[in-house]
Amino acid sequence: MKIIMLGAPGAGKGTQAKMIAEKYGIPHVSTGDIFRANIKNGTELGMEAKKYMDQGLLVPDELTVKILLDRVAQADCAEGYVLDGFPRTIPQAEVLDEALNRLGEKIDCAINVDVPDENIVKRMSGRRACLKCGATYHIEHIPPKREGICDSCESELVLRDDDKPETVQNRLKVYHDQTQPLIEFYTGKGVLKTVDGTADMQDVFAAITAILG
Ligand code: ADP
Ligand code: AMP
Repeated sequence: MKIIMLGAPGAGKGTQAKMIAEKYGIPHVSTGDIFRANIKNGTELGMEAKKYMDQGLLVPDELTVKILLDRVAQADCAEGYVLDGFPRTIPQAEVLDEALNRLGEKIDCAINVDVPDENIVKRMSGRRACLKCGATYHIEHIPPKREGICDSCESELVLRDDDKPETVQNRLKVYHDQTQPLIEFYTGKGVLKTVDGTADMQDVFAAITAILG
């Protein structure tokens, strides 16, 4: 099963993608997590990506497409995957489509997690992330058991630099300009499903599993 998560930054794509990955036994592939891991390890890719991420801009397609295609070519992706944060532009979606076509494969479902802009800034300022294992929490809605500490790996939780309100506004603009057109792209392919992302996370997940079966 090959699934794409669509939606504004902070809509809950990562939260739902992790739950999907666990239920269906497929890897959760997040380009944002891959970039953050590279930044943490001080790689050249990380340093380059950081320039864009800190401003709320997209990392150029050439860089992003390569890391994504390398990742999904790994053995654990053979039975499928859930993509979170990729594609984010029409050219990225087209490259993915061509790569899948060559293998005689296709995306089974693109899930659009719909959350209005008004809710997004609040979601992002409350998000706390574990940069070690990728877990995410929300200080009000999905708090960790111990304040500031990751439940899974006990590392310190942080407010991501790009979750500060001034950067979030940029990211929302970039989303509307460059990523939202993908809703039409996948509607045209007959695979788009929209869920109400403002609901409680378990209710959002129930709506998704009703779609995926
Ligand atoms: P995305 O991957 O789309 O950027 P996240 O999954 O990281 O978004 O979610 C953004 C923030 O909103 C996180 O702090 C997360 O804990 C919180 N969140 C996710 N889903 C819900 C929900 N259904 N209701 C309330 N808060 C949520
Ligand atoms: P995310 O963790 O998905 O919110 O992504 C964080 C940041 O990483 C984004 O704001 C972009 O700067 C960058 N990024 C992640 N995925 C992509 C992508 N598919 N294309 C371009 N930039 C990306």
